[in-house]
Amino acid sequence: MSDFRTTSEYPMIPLEEAWRIVADTVAALGPVPMSLTQLQGLVLAEDVVSRCDVPPFAASKMDGYAITAGDGVSERHVLGERGAGDAPGAGISPGTAVRIMTGAALPEGADAVIPVEHTREVDGLMHSMRRVRPGENVRHAGEDVATGDMVLRSGTVLGPAEVGLLATLGRPEIQVFPRPRVVVMATGDELIPPEQPLGPGQIHDSNSFALLAAVRAAGGVGRRLGPAIDDEASLRCALLRASQDADVVITSGGVSMGTRDLMKPVLASLGTVLFGRVAIKPGKPLTFSTIGNTPVFSLPGFPVSSLVTFENVVRPALRIMAGHVALWRPEVKARLTHAVRHAPDRMEFQRAIVERRGGTYWATTTGSQVSSRLKSLVGANALLRIPRGTGDLEEGCEITALLTNQPETEARR
Ligand code: AMP
Ligand code: MG
Repeated sequence: MSDFRTTSEYPMIPLEEAWRIVADTVAALGPVPMSLTQLQGLVLAEDVVSRCDVPPFAASKMDGYAITAGDGVSERHVLGERGAGDAPGAGISPGTAVRIMTGAALPEGADAVIPVEHTREVDGLMHSMRRVRPGENVRHAGEDVATGDMVLRSGTVLGPAEVGLLATLGRPEIQVFPRPRVVVMATGDELIPPEQPLGPGQIHDSNSFALLAAVRAAGGVGRRLGPAIDDEASLRCALLRASQDADVVITSGGVSMGTRDLMKPVLASLGTVLFGRVAIKPGKPLTFSTIGNTPVFSLPGFPVSSLVTFENVVRPALRIMAGHVALWRPEVKARLTHAVRHAPDRMEFQRAIVERRGGTYWATTTGSQVSSRLKSLVGANALLRIPRGTGDLEEGCEITALLTNQPETEARR
């Protein structure tokens, strides 16, 4: 059994510096072709230029009659009918018409459609009660998208409309940045899976499940490994394997100063530890390493610490890997509904509910902020960022609130 270490060999660095190290280390994953049914939420990795017109032919916007608008008559001989999907068929000449349905191709010679509600057809003769101008009720070829148009730029986040547009353009497959593959591994001798009853001194592993959910919410593909025990050989073996078949590894626990906190020495033996302490609360022992080219985020074991450090550092890193330009959620200035205690040595993230009342955001923290209490995150929609160097805050104080229920919109902080 080894003795306590009382000092850390890792300097405590500000969060901004830690983030810069992470941002310099991770990069967008290599683009892959993906099919239309898998694109939702992914980032486009190529410019899309249309190779066709949309619509591909002049089409009727209404159910009615295709006519030559300039023929100046009010009675026309009906030559036939065209439904959507029919070939345009024989053309029409002045004084004739074709019954036409919404989406059907206009026959040659037709330049407008009279809606059926303005007509009466008797014995093959169509009487129109209204005049239409040339072009009326017609979608022209290429009206929505013309051949050669730049339709979507690389970097666009694909949502339902973009996916639909790609299908419209006849692109069944497109280059996108893949979802990062993430292994999540909890570590700790005390951890057992939720399906097993607790023995003396044991607790259920919650971090690996919470972090897996966070990975999925961030657009990654997560897989759980472990929990691993606090043993050098098993940690080394598990980390090495994880780093070989994932784009990112996330661990929880084992990064503090206890005699069984072995993560940092094991990481140093397998790869490079890029930082081992950050001046934030919760999350001071947050550690970032690489094993080969795989980034490894080692989050502290306390459940709140692991989720808050995920939010602040891992989530934006996963977004870089997934090709996103927007990395940061919106921040607002909010006023405190009550006094807040804060020690000035570290930047602190307090969990809060932010509500807008009368044009002002008001922030109320979620009760006790100890980092073991997951309930401080349940129902919270914001993290209040209290800077280093600030002391206790009074009721009514203005503070920065990071809106954790809002999607990322900012490229830079
Ligand atoms: P550690 O960072 O390993 O010193 O753990 C700090 C605290 O977090 C201890 O009370 C652990 O029991 C607890 N903890 C560590 N890992 C987990 C986990 N996966 N789920 C829930 N609690 C954990
Ligand atoms: Mg531990």
